[in-house]
Amino acid sequence: MFSLPKNATIIEVGPRDGLQNEKKYVETADKLAFIEALQIAGIDEMEITSIDSPKWEPQIGDAKEIVEKSPRIGRQIVLTPNAKGVELALAAGAKNVAFFVGVSNSFNKKNINKTTDESMEAIAPLIKDLKTKNIFVRACISTAFYCPYEGKIEPKAVLQLCKQFVRLGVDELSVADTIGQANPVESYQLFSLLKKELPKTLITAHFHDTRKMAIANIFASLQAGVDRFDTSSGGLGGCPFAPGATGNVATEDVVHLLDSLGIETGIDVEKICRAVARIEPHIEGKIETGMYRLFELPPLIDVGDSCEHQTNV
Ligand code: MG
Repeated sequence: MFSLPKNATIIEVGPRDGLQNEKKYVETADKLAFIEALQIAGIDEMEITSIDSPKWEPQIGDAKEIVEKSPRIGRQIVLTPNAKGVELALAAGAKNVAFFVGVSNSFNKKNINKTTDESMEAIAPLIKDLKTKNIFVRACISTAFYCPYEGKIEPKAVLQLCKQFVRLGVDELSVADTIGQANPVESYQLFSLLKKELPKTLITAHFHDTRKMAIANIFASLQAGVDRFDTSSGGLGGCPFAPGATGNVATEDVVHLLDSLGIETGIDVEKICRAVARIEPHIEGKIETGMYRLFELPPLIDVGDSCEHQTNV
């Protein structure tokens, strides 16, 4: 029969990966209220923001404030693209830092104007330095299955890049199907390989629901021994630099899957939907993820007593 873990961890990426990609500016207080509502729902690990030049992406111009004011609950991760970002993140009090690198050179070039090797050269000393400071380091590996410019990516290329990060001492590898093109067999094969070859590193699967394959791929990854999944409440976000890369898989849908399989996450689906209802009026478009559509409360209602005090953060 199926081999399933007893527990799984959700790494919520909505406040960072989701809101960063929103065209409409979301007020800092609303971002903070969203973060807090997600924590109330049981989220313990979360990408809260990205620290970069505000000129590049206005949505993250308040990153410093987000880091400083986010409730210190669980692991709050800050994405940092370079030395300046690391410096700003640490100055704001970040204890957990994430970096992004694409396996595909073409994708990396389009995304950050560096080849994969050039990226690694730039961030290797940053990671080494962060590890001397006891900072948790998460490496996000994009285009681990397919690249919009190069097509199919070979698992051995992914493994090779992951091994470079492991040698640098990273704590976690978040391995992403950036354009949402992987199938369950490919998901099982890549994650089986990574779990076997890198047994001491936290391995997280980051699936995009572009072709509605994320839930199937997550089920296949569970079979490969993966028990950590990046998800975004309301399915917010994707990647602004990858054509067709819309749609992080929704936290509420993944938690529902895990609940239905008897896998413990510590997360309350209904409270996730309340957090989604809290942010929905502040973003463009309507949220129509599976579990959110079943959520009975209308989207504009007050999120309730437990969250009320957060609206004035
Ligand atoms: Mg994503």
